[in-house]
Amino acid sequence: MKLLLIHAWNARERSYRGAFSNLFSYSSLTLAAICALIPEGMFEQVDVIDENSQKVQYDRTQYDLVMISFETSSSITAYGHCAQFRKRGAYVVCGGYHATALPDEVAEHCDTVIQGPAEHSIPAFLSDFAKGCPKPRYCDFDVCAAEFPLPVRDKITKRKKLRIPGIVANRGCMNACKYCSMRMMWRNDPRPVEQVVEEIRALGSKMVIFYDPNFFGNREYVLALMKALKPLKILWASNATADFGYDHVLMQAAYDSGCRGVLIGLESLNTQSLSGVGKQFYETDRYQEIIANIHSHGIAVNGCFVLGFDHDTEEELLALPERVERLGLDLCRFAILTPYPGTKQFEEYEKNGRILTKEWDRYTQHHAVFEPAQITTERLEEIYRTVWKKAYTWRRVFRRAWRSPWRGKLYYWILLGANIGFKFLGANKRKPK
Ligand code: SF4
Repeated sequence: MKLLLIHAWNARERSYRGAFSNLFSYSSLTLAAICALIPEGMFEQVDVIDENSQKVQYDRTQYDLVMISFETSSSITAYGHCAQFRKRGAYVVCGGYHATALPDEVAEHCDTVIQGPAEHSIPAFLSDFAKGCPKPRYCDFDVCAAEFPLPVRDKITKRKKLRIPGIVANRGCMNACKYCSMRMMWRNDPRPVEQVVEEIRALGSKMVIFYDPNFFGNREYVLALMKALKPLKILWASNATADFGYDHVLMQAAYDSGCRGVLIGLESLNTQSLSGVGKQFYETDRYQEIIANIHSHGIAVNGCFVLGFDHDTEEELLALPERVERLGLDLCRFAILTPYPGTKQFEEYEKNGRILTKEWDRYTQHHAVFEPAQITTERLEEIYRTVWKKAYTWRRVFRRAWRSPWRGKLYYWILLGANIGFKFLGANKRKPK
């Protein structure tokens, strides 16, 4: 039997990364985690395609089983693959965020849908498949982090990818932001510290990126983890929430264990917008202080902002590039609010008739797919493009990099490269599609 695993990607999204893709694209940890669930010797051939940088070919091999993981924005692409492989006689299984949120829709395109985490469902499905009686649906959320097998990365492409490996200590988060899909999928359940350390040792890399959505969320756990990371003498980066910038003990422990950068979803400079979507920390007037605190510990900050909350006015959004510059960030990113199926935000907008389209390939965070409260969709998209352009003038690119706490360090060039890369990434987003 021959198996193909695919992480599907929206065609529009594949191209925008272009020449700088190796600064922004991470190797697929999803595929590596799925590979770890495939029993040795069950298939004579296992191929793995990360469509972000590899092409899906329908006719090169006759596959018996094709398993596709995808997010909402890639679902239309994934459905195309389902049709092609089914036409060629393969049994097709779908999983991932979109399949978890909308299993009935996904079931129309494949033979089996896997909802939620794969750790129990894929082995159960494979066992049934081998016996010739696979079920149409598998769903088991009761998965404990301690059971996760070590991801198998050797089949995952590194082509056009950042050469820094990714790892997860805790896939979940204890917060409940309305627009976040994480909670639908993962529970707040950190992996045992020794397992994380073992995985990092096995990677053999001196740099890693933690993909955890809220790395510092479980304070005691993360202090223990950082203590265990210290002897490894690695450099690492992770996601954080804004309150990290008040906790000097945590920041110092982070730096001492090798943390040199955090990505924070600051989301908005409008307090009402943040409290309206359930953000735990919304003292936006303290952002500057928080960023200065993090810098004082030698850690750089990438701040992410979302445009289109109900309290966002046109004037406020247009002022973002200047206001963001004053915050002193090292890197910044912008996205249009996107209510993904399965989130409270989607549920609320759908109930109020504010979802404008279910063309899922527009759910890429640079299209307005809902009716904004204070502005038209066209204007929101125009402002989004303007904000990228103004935040990434050459003067701002070099100023940000010059002020960074990384200046004078070897890895400073990564930051400068990322700033230049984001300038082109933003320019590409400016092309209306
Ligand atoms: S803090 Fe981040 S990961 Fe946690 S719920 Fe909010 S957006 Fe999601």
